[in-house]
Amino acid sequence: MLCAVSKLRVKLKPAIRRLRHNEQGYALVLTAAAMAVIIAFSSLVIDGGYLHFTHARLQDIADSAALAGAKELITAPGNENKKKRAAFETVIRYVSLHGFNIASTKGYTASLTCRGQAGDLAVGFPSELDLVEVQISLDTHVFLAKAPFRISSCPIRVSSAVMIGQAARQKGWLLPIAFFWGEYEWYTRYDMNLAPGDGSTGNYGYLDYKPSNMFKEYLEWGYDGALTVGQAVETYPGASVGQVRDAILGRIAGCTHGCSITCVNEAVEVDIEPLCPRVVIIPIVADFFEQNGKGYVIIKGFSKFFIESYDPDTKVITGWFLQEVSPSEITGSSSKFTTQAVKLIK
Ligand SMILES: [Zn+2]
Repeated sequence: MLCAVSKLRVKLKPAIRRLRHNEQGYALVLTAAAMAVIIAFSSLVIDGGYLHFTHARLQDIADSAALAGAKELITAPGNENKKKRAAFETVIRYVSLHGFNIASTKGYTASLTCRGQAGDLAVGFPSELDLVEVQISLDTHVFLAKAPFRISSCPIRVSSAVMIGQAARQKGWLLPIAFFWGEYEWYTRYDMNLAPGDGSTGNYGYLDYKPSNMFKEYLEWGYDGALTVGQAVETYPGASVGQVRDAILGRIAGCTHGCSITCVNEAVEVDIEPLCPRVVIIPIVADFFEQNGKGYVIIKGFSKFFIESYDPDTKVITGWFLQEVSPSEITGSSSKFTTQAVKLIK
């Protein structure tokens, strides 16, 4: 806009020179010039303020749409393409809730209108499932600048990026059963087997959250404390087969809805009620070691797990790794069967 003011000055120069010898004319020119400057400055203040406000509002919308899209990318069932499609649709829904009309969509882009102003939206996934970018541009109306500068709109472009990574911390809902780290896939059925022996050779073992005498309650209701990736946790050697069996079968019996996950032709159908007792948070551990006669494991992550069934004879838990967004910091690992966290980076 400052550049437009200097253009106006150049335009007026010959007229000023012509009228310099005519006092009345000169006064007129001075008044006109002063008015032009006043209008120019007013437009700078009013339009500038409006453009600044619009930029901030668009940035807020892009940030929250990117965060919502990233969360959908994590939790949507299906393969990578289905996840991206679901994330894109969430971004579109989010933007339309904020007063934009979606004129058309193509791929992961859309044409928008907002109060007679035209714009574009693009959602990008530059790093597979680890990053979501949202760009919004809008030809924003200007008001006072119309007269002196013949400008009717000014393009505003904002962009936002959200990083996805493994959650570093989990508070609450923790089962005292830990799975040993493996290359598991999300929304895939697994048989987790407790092999005989020291617990480090099977798929799972037991953790000793303190106080130890609450083990049964932890199995039934979950441990309410917090665990962090990298933390060493004592293993629990005192778990009785009966206690574990009763707690897990009790959780399955407590599901009144008949929650299920089915997979037909690679399409995953998830029908799980919120707060279903069959959905648990399981610490994922590795690096078993012994110190002063006690066993320890290192927390590597957390997993939201749906208990489909439990066989008390073989001690096999059959279930699915679900995907979950946690309000946590993120770690460097991009493993996707563990709970995830999101972070706005731009
Ligand atoms: Zn249920």
